Amino acid sequence: MQLFQAKTSKFLKGLYQLLYKRVIIILVILLGLGLSVAVVGTYYLSINLVDSQAMHYSKVVIKTLNETGRYYSSNVVDRLKLINDVEAIPEYHSISGGIPNPATFTIEIGDRLSNQSEGVIFRLYSDYPFPNRQATGGPQDQFEHAALNYLKKHPEASFHRKERVGNTLSFRYTEAVRMEASCVVCHNTLPSSPKKDWKVGQVRGIVEITQPLDHSMLIAQDGLKTIYIVLATIIFLAISGLVLVIGRFRSTTQELEEKVAKRTAALNRLATTDGLTQLVNRRQFDQCLEQEWQRSQRQQAPFSLILCDVDCFKNYNDTYGHQLGDNCLRHVAQVLQNSVRRSGEIAARYGGEEFAIILPNVNSVEATQIASAIRNAIHQLQIPHSTSIAQTYVTLSMGIATMIPSRNNSPQELIKTSDNALYQAKAQGRDRYISWNEMPS
Ligand code: GH3
Ligand code: MG
Ligand code: MG
Repeated sequence: MQLFQAKTSKFLKGLYQLLYKRVIIILVILLGLGLSVAVVGTYYLSINLVDSQAMHYSKVVIKTLNETGRYYSSNVVDRLKLINDVEAIPEYHSISGGIPNPATFTIEIGDRLSNQSEGVIFRLYSDYPFPNRQATGGPQDQFEHAALNYLKKHPEASFHRKERVGNTLSFRYTEAVRMEASCVVCHNTLPSSPKKDWKVGQVRGIVEITQPLDHSMLIAQDGLKTIYIVLATIIFLAISGLVLVIGRFRSTTQELEEKVAKRTAALNRLATTDGLTQLVNRRQFDQCLEQEWQRSQRQQAPFSLILCDVDCFKNYNDTYGHQLGDNCLRHVAQVLQNSVRRSGEIAARYGGEEFAIILPNVNSVEATQIASAIRNAIHQLQIPHSTSIAQTYVTLSMGIATMIPSRNNSPQELIKTSDNALYQAKAQGRDRYISWNEMPS
């Protein structure tokens, strides 16, 4: 359970970092996905609109045709049949007193509408066309066969499909035409009728309307183009805005981070540096001594420390004043700073007019050489000190201790030993260095 929680939190952390670092790319991807969904959605919406418009139009037209046929049958044919010499038959052209029977009437209205409406085709067909319609009265293609078969089984339904007719994408819609009571007698008695056992409700034929969709599709495509342009513009503006805002946010964050880093560095300097001499302060000295001691212990390397103390400094202050005393300490500090060159070597203000020099990887002989060089450099400063009991100028006394760090000794012991050496240097007349080491000479 704990492993799972750790993995989940690691995953969430990684995800958060990814989101933060790659926020622009992720937003662009999300907006791109949104645009794709919108494009696909509007495309299918436009297709559905065109289809449902075509379906609605087909239903209205077929209803109109059927209603016209019914009206003609009951209000025209049935009444005219009562008049002698009037005959309602498919071949009415060739007979005097002949009028079209309702089916022929509907077919011919459909033909007329087809001729007048560009590309729209109305058709009536059945398994049993009258002899005068043998050529065109039956199903003509695969769709018409399928429509006839389907609607014979499901007379209440409709059958439609979108397909190419010639070079044009068209919507083909069909409904069944069912035998009505007023038609059965005629159809079963007319000599030219190809089937004479019709019953009311049987599927007599199919009425079909074929509409070209190209024009509607063009209108829809124009609309889609406008929508796409608007969407792309919105997304472009949104991404530009986001890039600007995020860019500004990032540069502000970077500026803040730089300021914080500078202030932290300045604070660290303040916390580790002595204000008067700009050397490492006592706190930092303690830390560095511990660290370098550990390192030398691992490497089994010699480790030296020089403790320095300005001679008769109380007298100096009394003679020249505290301000010149401070200046003197700065000059001494500068000499000590110049004496450390290798990595890990540190000159620190130990306290008051006392200084310490950490010398990792420096043996007793080398430490003595360094102390000697410091002594000479301090002499060269020639800072007058008329009340010193050592010289007429400012001098240092130094205590040197060298050890190989181990479990049997410690940094505190090193300090103590060099302090003892320093004490000896003072006792022997000041302006000198004394070296104590526990290594075999
Ligand atoms: P010795 O040779 O035995 O070291 O004698 P000393 O006079 O140097 O020793 P002592 O410890 O008696 O006096 C140290 C003096 O250093 C006393 C103090 O006023 C002075 N001192 C300590 N810190 C500062 C400082 O920051 N500035 C100044 N001007 N004087 C300081
Ligand atoms: Mg002192
Ligand atoms: Mg002193």
